[in-house]
Amino acid sequence: SKNSGGIAPARIAELREREAAVFRAARPKSAKAFGEGLQDYLGGVPMLWMQDWPTPFPIMVEKAKGATIVDVDGNRLADFCLGDTGSMFGHSPAPVARAIRRQSGRGLTYMLPSDDAVAVGKLLAQQFGLPRWQIATTASDANRFALRVARSVTGRGKILVFNGCYHGAVDETFVRLDHGKPANKRGLSGEYRDLTEHTKVVEFNDAPALEAALAARDVACVITEPVLTNCCIVPPQPGFHDALRRLTRETGTLLLIDETHTISTAPGGFTRGHGLEPDLFVLGKPVAGGVPASVWGLSAETAERYDRYLSAKEPGYSGIGTTLSANPLQFAAMRATLEEVMTEENYAGMERLAGLLQAGLQAAIERHRLPWHVARVGARVEFICAPGPLRNGGEADAAHAPELEAAIHVALVNRGVLIAPFHNMMLVSPATSQRQVDRLVAAFADIAAALAA
Ligand code: PMP
Repeated sequence: SKNSGGIAPARIAELREREAAVFRAARPKSAKAFGEGLQDYLGGVPMLWMQDWPTPFPIMVEKAKGATIVDVDGNRLADFCLGDTGSMFGHSPAPVARAIRRQSGRGLTYMLPSDDAVAVGKLLAQQFGLPRWQIATTASDANRFALRVARSVTGRGKILVFNGCYHGAVDETFVRLDHGKPANKRGLSGEYRDLTEHTKVVEFNDAPALEAALAARDVACVITEPVLTNCCIVPPQPGFHDALRRLTRETGTLLLIDETHTISTAPGGFTRGHGLEPDLFVLGKPVAGGVPASVWGLSAETAERYDRYLSAKEPGYSGIGTTLSANPLQFAAMRATLEEVMTEENYAGMERLAGLLQAGLQAAIERHRLPWHVARVGARVEFICAPGPLRNGGEADAAHAPELEAAIHVALVNRGVLIAPFHNMMLVSPATSQRQVDRLVAAFADIAAALAA
């Protein structure tokens, strides 16, 4: 992407250099840790994504509570990244911390259900509207397992994704449109297959392209976020979800809605808020308040079809499930999250502050006449350094301004605010204060002024 958001590249480079120096000066202990302390890890980090922060080196965390992170150098940050959604309800929400403490004396994993499982099953059905559930450990896994069910019941091999999608480390979804042609995503390690053999890809909001791709009736499942959030926020245009549901039904294709990020909308996700009717439903990341857990749900009809499939299939390993999944710690944390944290009241507060954040960022953009926009899905807000709204993944790709975004991210950290890497995403949690929102808006306005001057 060549986008520089209307800012001269030299000015961006100057900001980036100046802010990198400020960052380093404030973090001697983090610098030492990343220079010397983590060589035992591949790439010098315990998980390779940690190399992708735009800061000169990752921030070494001492502790996090609510919506605040304290680093080992004593810097306090208002945390709007929140573990890229894993801590969307704040770090260590009190009810979840209590549940973890209680469960810690009763065993952590049995491969057998616990009494909390009974409550969680009922809560999931109530909250998300689908009648049958499974527990997994990551959203990636939940998607993988749900896709396996879709293939089982339809007897079809292919899936369909939207350009710019992300559904976790699910190999077969790593497909994009390259000048209109399906291709493997760029940069995949060790991928020797042509993933487009089994995965179709069309642009989001393009019902005619979707109709054409489903016409052969060889697609088991369309997997999508209800609003794309991983390329940039791309909202569905009016009528697109109706077309998606109609076209999938007409062609015997299942519809999997991945709510892992859009759960920022409401306790029932975008699905309940907008009356979507998925056959399969996936939610990971914050569903256990930060304890690794994910859930996937099936509609009554999909569950019945899979039951029939199971009784007819040869016995043996189904390829669904992992050893540590559905453990009692997950159930304890999920029960606390569903009962006491994912409440209408908490969402109302998140919605209010996210609205203020959106308005504040928008005002700064307008004040400095920048050709940028702000998008929002409930408690999830994003500034995008290009005009909007975006209509699809292709436009989102072109809207990215990597150099500019990196400079802004570091400048925000230096002003006491952390936002998600990879994109410009900010999450408001129930623990986020209005002062923290004001701080982010002021920091953003300050940086916008420096860039536009
Ligand atoms: N689905 C969506 C929509 C996501 O955004 C992500 C992660 N960003 C995932 C699935 C995968 O989640 P995890 O990395 O926890 O498996």
